Amino acid sequence: MKGLPVGETCLVNPTGANKKPRLGEILQVFDKSYEMGFADGSKERISAIKVVPVRTRAKTAALEPMPEREESEAPVYREPVAQPKTQTRFVCDAYRRYVKSHHCVNCEFHGAAQHGNTEADHRGERGVSQKCSDLLVIPLCMFCHAVITAKNVLPVRPKGLSDPAKTPQLMSVVDTHLIVTGAQMKLLTGIVNALAQSDPDAAIKALEGGLRNLDKDTLAEACKMAMKEDE
Ligand SMILES: [Zn+2]
Ligand SMILES: [Zn+2]
Repeated sequence: MKGLPVGETCLVNPTGANKKPRLGEILQVFDKSYEMGFADGSKERISAIKVVPVRTRAKTAALEPMPEREESEAPVYREPVAQPKTQTRFVCDAYRRYVKSHHCVNCEFHGAAQHGNTEADHRGERGVSQKCSDLLVIPLCMFCHAVITAKNVLPVRPKGLSDPAKTPQLMSVVDTHLIVTGAQMKLLTGIVNALAQSDPDAAIKALEGGLRNLDKDTLAEACKMAMKEDE
């Protein structure tokens, strides 16, 4: 994201050799990139498209008690999904049903029994006039959904249990991001794989349309990485 100030804490999406998102601080602002400082003391110049701000409340959230659930609360944890401000939600009932047919991804990750039914949670940027696409929803149980809605991070779930904790231990922004994007990736890939079986032309159309929507830098970087993997 362009236009961020020096000192802002940001999530740096995977670059080259680094396969995981990292938390860093903006040290210097350039035209299309930032110099980022990381916790291990290293510095790196990163393309602006890979840098997403994380407001500090999410980091201290573990210290606060759980507030009442409030869907309208402004999101603190923001997914790196570029959407024009005027865009309204892309609706797809069939996809939401597909998502709801899964177990809670967070309870599954922790080996916990989910609490209540699966809900299809919207992850991504939300504001007054915008809501994210139905194609980005992920399956979360009532409890995990309530926590991520209030805190913008997912709770740690005790193994084998389904009961919600009053003051749940919270996962980090980075780990939450990994679970959310991992689930989105798996669900979307499931649809493309189903299409590849039943209607390959439609699968190709879906993939081509998706890649075409990326900015040129991201696509070029991915092509370079794919080339290396082929060697
Ligand atoms: Zn859950
Ligand atoms: Zn929700």
